[in-house]
Formats: sequence, structure tokens, C-alpha cells
Amino acid sequence: MALDLSALPILDQHCHPLLREGSRFRDVEYQRFFSESDQTAMYEHHAATTIFFRWALKELATFLGCPATVDDVLAARAALGDEALATRMFRDAGLAMLLLDHGYQTGESLSHAELAARLPCRLATILRLETLAQELILRHETFDQLVETFVAAVEGARAAGHVGLKSIIAYRTGLAVAETTRGEAGAAFAPVKERARRDGRVRLADKPLNDYLVLRALEIAEQQELPVQFHTGFGDNDLDLLAANPLHLRRHIERHRRVPFVLLHASYPYVREQAYLAAVHPNVHADLGLAVPYLAANIPAMLREAFALAPTSKLLFSTDAYSIPDIFWIAARWGRWGLGTVLEEMITLGAVTRDEALDIAGEILGGNAARLYGLPWPPSS
Ligand SMILES: [Zn+2]
Repeated sequence: MALDLSALPILDQHCHPLLREGSRFRDVEYQRFFSESDQTAMYEHHAATTIFFRWALKELATFLGCPATVDDVLAARAALGDEALATRMFRDAGLAMLLLDHGYQTGESLSHAELAARLPCRLATILRLETLAQELILRHETFDQLVETFVAAVEGARAAGHVGLKSIIAYRTGLAVAETTRGEAGAAFAPVKERARRDGRVRLADKPLNDYLVLRALEIAEQQELPVQFHTGFGDNDLDLLAANPLHLRRHIERHRRVPFVLLHASYPYVREQAYLAAVHPNVHADLGLAVPYLAANIPAMLREAFALAPTSKLLFSTDAYSIPDIFWIAARWGRWGLGTVLEEMITLGAVTRDEALDIAGEILGGNAARLYGLPWPPSS
């Protein structure tokens, strides 16, 4: 038995926008959303055999009132259409507030205003540093202009409505961010600008530049006590998982004690390392997204590792969902189930009372993040 957490609202502290057209897919296209791989062979032959996909399909079929086959689920989704699908799933999921990172999209996405009009929840945004830097590299000719406009944008992030920053340096040049001088970063600018000029777009993965800009952002976050989310652990197909171990961040965590470091994705599979960092550093917070829902039946096992060391005041729920409402819905559902399962075990053990367990769940699902980002909570109905 799992403690029933269905009445508790969720603050999804890390997620991405929905596609403009996300209700009509062929099977392989749909299966793609349930895989971390960028290999077509994975979607065609293997993605549908994960426990994640098998279980999600049954849950979605029950919700949609259709048989649990890919074809039936796809037909039921298409019959509802984008708007009804999103509204029904978000309402059922009890997602009250989303912190959106608009820097990750798999196709043409709804704008912030369109999402605000469509979804039955409040929205806020997180500023993605590398996407910002890439846009500025395209727009400006010199390194000095890049730095000047980057610093201005990060300093103005709060005024522009962002409640935090986010870095994906883990899967660009790794979390072992090195002290980098302005001169070293400036020397790396010319070839990057050359690529940007040639291709009309640029993917920033040049260590001196990435490191320098992230360090500048941390200095500004330190002055403003602005939370910074870091991609850690799995979650992108061009990732060197070895470089995504959150232990690499220790020096920066200690140097920027007024920056709340939010380690995303349960740092999975480095969930023990993540919990350790959250246990020893007051300014480290442990996000559970992506691991919920990807780990599916093993979500309680992951949560036991988090609870083993991390104070419950440090744990933050998110979905890391993107593009389709299905993943938001399944993550909310399994997140409550996983938490309810582990908390019920602790009640049985006598480690926490039922009231304490409900309080812990409410904090992890929303209260902790609301305090961290300075957001109103619980949401007024
Ligand atoms: Zn994400």
C-alpha cells in the first residue's frame, strides 16, 4: 500500500514547453519520447520494450479509455486533439505550477503566452545560460560584446521574470568547470564566431568559453542569491555521463555559498553522490526529475537512496517533461506513487508519523521549491 498523495498539488520545478502539434504521431515517433537515445534503431526496435514504456502505455490506456496498444493509445490521443489532451492530463495530474525552461524544444513549441492560456496551472521561467550565450554569439561580433550582453541578461534575469538560471554545461563540456581567465575565454571566441557565421547557428561546446560564462553567471547569482539549476547525471544523448557526476561541482559549491545549486535529474545514476552533496552543503538541493518517470517500477528504489542521506527539506520534485503532456501526467502520477510507497514504509517502520509523512510529501512536491524560488504556495484555487 502507498500513502495516498493524490490531493497534494505539484510544483514542477523543471520542465519544458509543449509542442504546437503533439497529438498525432506514428508509433516510432511517439516511442521516441520514451527513450534517451538518438538512434532510430532504439525507437524502432527497443524503446517500446522498456518497463517504462510498457507500464506507461497501460496507464495511459486506462486514462484514455482504450485498449493498451500503441495504435489504440495513438488513436485516442489524436481523437482528443492537442488542447483537450493537455487540459485533461494537466488537470488530472494536479500540476499547479511549472517552472519552464524554454531552451529545449524538439519541434515548434507553444509560446509562453499560449501555454499560459492553455494549461490550468501557473507558469514561471528559468533562464538557460547556454542557449542565451548562443543567441548572443550569433548577434554580436566581438567577445567583449558577448560578455557585456551576457552579463546584462543574467543580471536582469529576475527583472525579466525568470526565477532561476540553468546550465547544461554537463553535456557540453562537463561539470569539471575550470577557473578560466577572460583572456583564455576570449581566445576561444574567434573559431566559435566563425562557425556561427558559416552555419547561421551555433552549438557552444568550447570549454574555455563555456566555463568562463558559467563562472560569470555564478558570480551574479551569488550577488542576487539566485538559484542555479545544473544538469547532472543522465538526460541527453550527447552526454558523457562520466563528466556529469555532480561531485565535480564541489569547489564551485563551496566558493558560491549564497547560490542555491539545484542538481537536476536525481544526478542519476549518481543519486547517492547527489544525496551526499545535499546532506553536507546547505546550498545544494536535490531534484528528482527525469529519474521520475524514467525509472518506472524502480522509482521507490531511487527515492530510498535519496532519503538515505538527503534532508527532506532539500528534495525537489520535477518531471523534466517536454513536448507532450503524456510525460507530465505519468511523472506526476508515478512521483506521487513512489513517494507514497516509500513514506508508507517509513510509517510502518515507525520512523515517521502519518502526519509527518504527509508534510514531507507536500514539501517535496511543492513547498521546498516554492521557498527556494520565492513563489506563492500552496496555490490559491
Ligand atoms: Zn530538462
